Amino acid sequence: MEQASDHMAKRILVVEDNDLNRKLFCDVLRSQGYDIEPVADGRDALEKARAFSPDLIIMDIQLPNISGLDLIEAAKQDPALRAIPVLAVTAYAGKGDEDRIRDAGAEGYLAKPVSIGPFMAAVRTLMEV
Ligand code: MN
Repeated sequence: MEQASDHMAKRILVVEDNDLNRKLFCDVLRSQGYDIEPVADGRDALEKARAFSPDLIIMDIQLPNISGLDLIEAAKQDPALRAIPVLAVTAYAGKGDEDRIRDAGAEGYLAKPVSIGPFMAAVRTLMEV
């Protein structure tokens, strides 16, 4: 697989309970040279974020045991995490859902099924800031 040549790889935390989606997101991002920390259980997400200090958090909204929306709100209230941009991915694409996700503090939003092109474009855009 072709690797990006950036020797200071940016770090991305991928919070996604679905094994296939998590593997897809992680494989695509690793192929672009990013340093990835996968999180399958949303209850571990904030602790992993503090330890990994990512440049971007990709957050599935539909998680068992905990809501991705609540995790985004908690991250945005945490002084150690609030500056990290969040790209939310959600199975529901209603306008009200996007509003609630953005109100929670997510800087980016993609509806599933996620296509690779728009996914990578959103990732790059959110980490340019
Ligand atoms: Mn899910």
